[in-house]
Parts: sequence; C-alpha cells; structure tokens
Amino acid sequence: DHSKFEIELGRIKKDKGVELDADLSVDALKEVCAAYLNVYQREVGEPFPSRPREQLDRAIRAVFESWAKDRAVAYRRINKITGLLGTAVNVQAMVFGNMGQNSGSGVAFTRNPATGDNEFYGEFLINAQGEDVVAGIRTPMHIDGIKEKWPDIYEQLMGIRQRLEQRYRDMQDVEFTIQEGTLYMLQTRTGQRTGMAAVKMAIDMVHEHLISPKEALQRIKGEQLNQLLFPILDPQAKLQALEAGHQLGVGLPAGPGAATGQAVFNSLDAELWKKQGKKVILVRDETVAEDVAGMWAAEGILTSKGGMTSHAAVVARGWGKCCVVGLGELNIDDANKCFTIGGQSVKEGDFISLDGSTGELLLGQVPTTPSPVIAGLLHDDANARDNEVYKNFVEIMDWSDRVRRLKVRANADTPIDAEKAVKLGAQGIGLVRTEHMFFEGERIWAIREFILAQTPQDRQKALNALLPLQEEDFLGIFNAMGERPVTIRLLDPPLHEFLPFDEAGQQEMAHRLGISVAEVKHAVAEHKEQNPMLGHRGCRLSISYPELCVMQTKAIIKAALAVESKFRIEPEIMIPLVASRKEFDFLARIIKVTADELIKQKNSLLRYKVGSMIEIPRAALLADEIAKSAEFFSFGTNDLTQMTLGLSRDDANSFLPNYRDKKIFAFDPFEQIDEDGVGSLMKIAVSKGKSQRPDIHLGICGEHGGEPHSVKFCHDLGLDYVSCSPYRVPIARLAAAQAVLASEDEHADLDVDDL
Ligand code: PEP
Ligand code: MG
Repeated sequence: DHSKFEIELGRIKKDKGVELDADLSVDALKEVCAAYLNVYQREVGEPFPSRPREQLDRAIRAVFESWAKDRAVAYRRINKITGLLGTAVNVQAMVFGNMGQNSGSGVAFTRNPATGDNEFYGEFLINAQGEDVVAGIRTPMHIDGIKEKWPDIYEQLMGIRQRLEQRYRDMQDVEFTIQEGTLYMLQTRTGQRTGMAAVKMAIDMVHEHLISPKEALQRIKGEQLNQLLFPILDPQAKLQALEAGHQLGVGLPAGPGAATGQAVFNSLDAELWKKQGKKVILVRDETVAEDVAGMWAAEGILTSKGGMTSHAAVVARGWGKCCVVGLGELNIDDANKCFTIGGQSVKEGDFISLDGSTGELLLGQVPTTPSPVIAGLLHDDANARDNEVYKNFVEIMDWSDRVRRLKVRANADTPIDAEKAVKLGAQGIGLVRTEHMFFEGERIWAIREFILAQTPQDRQKALNALLPLQEEDFLGIFNAMGERPVTIRLLDPPLHEFLPFDEAGQQEMAHRLGISVAEVKHAVAEHKEQNPMLGHRGCRLSISYPELCVMQTKAIIKAALAVESKFRIEPEIMIPLVASRKEFDFLARIIKVTADELIKQKNSLLRYKVGSMIEIPRAALLADEIAKSAEFFSFGTNDLTQMTLGLSRDDANSFLPNYRDKKIFAFDPFEQIDEDGVGSLMKIAVSKGKSQRPDIHLGICGEHGGEPHSVKFCHDLGLDYVSCSPYRVPIARLAAAQAVLASEDEHADLDVDDL
C-alpha cells in the first residue's frame, strides 16, 4: 500500500524540517531507504529482494497485474475497451531529472487537450522525476518556465513537438526528462482530449494540411461530438469532487450532459419543488410513463433499474436530459425519501450531481456549463454563433452531410421536439410515438374514458374528444416539418400504462370521471398483464378497437389536408408490432377507407403511405409477405432486440453488467445492434422485402439509430435512413459519413480546397 511508504517519508521530512523530497540530505535519504525496507518487511513478511534480476521481475509483474486492478477494470468498462489481453511492459534505461538544479522532468501535450488550441501545453518540475509531476507532490510550473530557464532546450522541445505531430499526424502526449542539461524524450502517444478539443484539432489539422478532411471526420468519435451539445459538469469542479471522494457510484450513461440538483423521490415532489424554483434530480427505482411530468421537471434522472432503452432512458435522451439508469447498488427507500449507496446516505433535499456521459453519481453540487452549440442552434443566440466551438461544430456537420448517403431523421412526438430536430439537422421524422401526446393536458382523461368505456358508443364518445386534440398535434408537427417526411405510428403501448397505480391517482381519476374508486381499481386490474410487453399492445390494440385506428387516421389525414396548400406533404402511417400480413392488411384497409373518404370529400390529390414496423422476429422472417402490402419498413430494434434475445428491455440491466463482466456480451445489445442475431434478421427482412418490392423504403427507428456502430451497420445494410432522438441527430450525421468513409468500395473524395 503506497500510503504506508508515504507515511514514513512524511515523518522523516517533518523530522528534518524540510518540505520537499529534493531537500532531503543524503543521510536523510538513507534513512528513508531503511524505513521503506522496514515497511516492506513488515507488510510482506520477508526482506525486500536484493537481487536486481528479481527486483526487475517483480516490477514487470506489478505492471502486468495492474491490468486487473479495480480502477483499470472500471476504466475499461466506462471507455468500452474490450477484447484486449492485457497491458504491455517496456523496460528501458533510466535518465534522471533529479540530478540537481540543471535537471528536471515534464509532461506535455503538443496542443491543448481541453480546448484544442494550437499551443504547447504542459508542466514541468526542476530537480524531479516524471512521477513527481504527475503525482502532484509538488506544484509544477507552466511549460513556458523552461523558455526562461533553458531557452535552448525550449527551442529543442518546440522542434520535437513539430516533428512528432508531422510524424504521427495527431496531437501527442509526451514525457521528457532533462538530465544535467540534456533533453531526453521518454515517451510519446496520441493524447486524450475533450470533445471540444477533438473537433477543433481535427478541423485545424485539415487547414494546416496535416490530415485530410476524410481523416478528420474519421477521427472524431460520436461521444466527443456529443460533448459539444450538452451542458457539462465543470471539469475542474468535477476533479475536485472526485478528489474529495464524492463519487457515489457509476450507472449506465443513458441521457447526455450533466445535472446537479436536490434529490427527490417521486414525480409529484419533482414538480412541486420545481414550481418553488428548485433544481431537482428525480431518484426512482424505475420510471413509469406516469412519471413523465416529474422527469420533465427534474434536471436529471437517476434510477437503480432499467437499461439503455428503458422508458427513463428513451424519454430523457429525447429531451436531451441528463439521465443515469441501472445504478444497481442504489438502495432507495421511497417511504423515508432517502437512498444509501456504499455506506453513504442521501436524503431528500441533499444535493447530488450526475454525469450523463460517464454514468457517475456524485455527492454535492457540481456546477455545470452550458453549450454554445445548443445556444446557437436552438436558442438563436448570436453570441454563441460567434463562438469557435459553434463554428467548428457547423463545419464538421457540413463535411459530414456532403459525404453521407444515409438520411437522418428524428424520433419526435411534439411540434416543439420536431422544430428542435430540424434545427439539429433532421431531414424528417422517422417516428412519432402518438401515445406520448396522450399524457399531455386533458388528453389523459379522454384516453382514460376510452379505456373505461363499456359500450362502443362510450368508446366513440371518448375518441371524439381525442380527435381534435390529435389533429392539432399532427398539424403542429406537419407545420414544423414542412415538406420533410413524417412517419406517424398508431398507438403502441399496453393500455394499463395510461392508468394510475397509486391510491391518490386512482382517487383523482374516480373524482374526475364521476365513478367510484372501486371501478377504477377494477379497470386497473382488468388491464393488468403478466407480460405487457408481449401483450395487448401495438397493432393488437387497433385490431381490438378499430375505432382507435379510424380516429388516428382521421387526425393524420385531416391535419395533412389542412396544410397541403402550403407545402407538398405525404404522411406516412406506420403500423406497430406487426407479426403477420393479415394484421397489417386488416388495419391498412381501415386506414385506406378512412383516409380516402376524407381526401375525396376535399377533392384533394393528397398521397399518403402505409408501412409496417419490423420489430417482431416473425415479421422479419416473413418480410416478403408483409412487403406485398406495406410501402415501407421501419426497424423497431428496441422490440426486435427484446424479442430476438428474449431479453426484457426494462429489466435486463439487473444482470447485463454481469454478462459484460464475464465477457458473454461485449456490449449492451439495447445500445448497439447485435449484428449476429438481430442484424441477421434485419438482413433477411431487407432482402425479402426488396424481393417483393424493389423500391421499398427502409429505415430504423429503434434507439440504435443514433449509435455510431449501428448506424454503420444500417449503412452497410442499404437502409435509406436512420431515425433517432433529436439530440443524437448530429452524431448520426457524423456516423453516417464515417460509414461511407469506412467502406472500401466507396470513394468519397473530399478535397480540402473544396471546403
Ligand atoms: C422499437 O421497438 O424499436 C420502437 C421504436 O418502438 P418503441 O420503442 O416505442 O417500442
Ligand atoms: Mg416497439
């Protein structure tokens, strides 16, 4: 244990009245050596090996073994580093930076790794070894200090900096030592960088003719681009929090950005506290649809259960809201409004912070900084548009758009989301989940009336109330999207999701609808299913209640008719959870009869498409049959993954981390497409679909549509578009360009002079 040695060193320094290691006399250092040998003997139970060969062997072994240390394991997990056998060990001759005032050691980056600025950026210490610089024992000096002290060496370093960048064509992270006036370079490697720096350096290096635009695009990772979009935890403040031991745990980084606020334990409190002007983080075991208001009110969401496609994650990502899910060690006590984790406890009102890009939960209030890209794109902030980060973002997006073949659409459920999506570069909407509208305002009461209705007349009455509201929603979306394509999906979730499960909610519902609480409870019990995800949902709902399909079709077509004079529009109506052509045909006929009548009434030539989601394995296997009727396919890879792997999208995270640790899964299949399994079904569906209908339009609207590996897979598969949450649109645009650049048979020659 390193600290045992530090205690001895500290004691001797105190004894001798010196502050720095380098101030210890030779005799004092001998004392330190003796003390260290004693520590070793005491802790290990044998004398420190004196044969150099054995010392070297043990040192080598220690490096190999560092691979399995907790923090190395955690680092690899967080950074998704898999498939490596272990670390390498270099054995090399030493030089010494601690040979007096004419010696020293430094660590530097050839460019600023935080901002990307083209400046030599680093720190050094006189009369010290490199370890002293990185371990923070002494406060190092800015690298510019070398210029004053040893101008010749500084010159040399600047020359080496340039040679290294020319040689490696990327920013380098170097370590060097000056031994009695001679400069030695110890190590160079490509440096880690923030997203902001990655984008800036890539662009700058193109303009410096160091790399091609193609390389620049390939070099930026999706997550790095993401960092430009979301408010982040102030890096300095986060470091301080980590050093103070305030990291409470690490869950799944489900929603981007960062959030800081007071912990609350239910949706109502989240809304209430927000109304009082407080910033809150909603802490739940899992979130249900009913929590949407509380989730919206919260700065961030933290759950102990759930995976990357669980409700909380999907909704949060759609909103660009920070969200950490599946933090299994979290013990939430809803009744007492507190949680414990790793021996620490947090109660209602205590400040916590979330890092949505790493999944970390931190104690306390870590400040955030807003993103100029978002301010410039979404808030029309002129100052932000002057910001270099904004300009760099726009430039990279422009290059990407010139290269990519795949179109990028967004999943958006409201006019506001649709507008946002367009500003983020979406070329259409690939999925409107109509059910999300049902939670807003008065709509929830109309749908509840529908669920409670005992007769067709009562059901119709409830639907009549919903029709104008839905029509208004679609009108808003069409207006926001103009001529861009919009795919609207018929109602999908099991009906119980619209019913209240808690006593207070049930009482409110009874009061509102003028019925008894017992009747409400009866309805809740009646709609309860053992396996709701495999139950009465998707097209099955509209097959049971065709009037639902009629109402939604009317709303879509009426809204389209209302805007057709303003712009050319061709709504796409999508049927979910189709397993057989018969289901599709049953509903397609209702849609057609309903739509055609409205269109005829208006003497209009409006065109529309009816297509199918492919999200049940059977639909993929029988895609040729379905394509006889369906004009387009959209892969719902959330459900397709769930059903292909037999893995519940809401519960799997309780054991998926274990699967990852044991290397059974290399990644979360809800995050990245399982190409071998789910991907095979997609291939079959594409090939069979095209065999029946060569021009069938193909897209994906599962969460995978915004994940770079999956985007590449969709490109290779020949899909026409990917659709993802609005905030992931830029990543998808970049990933679609990278997919073109990665495929050998396609040559996208981007010339720097053209840019
Ligand atoms: C899907 O299953 O991939 C999909 C997009 O539908 P949802 O997530 O709404 O079930
Ligand atoms: Mg689905």
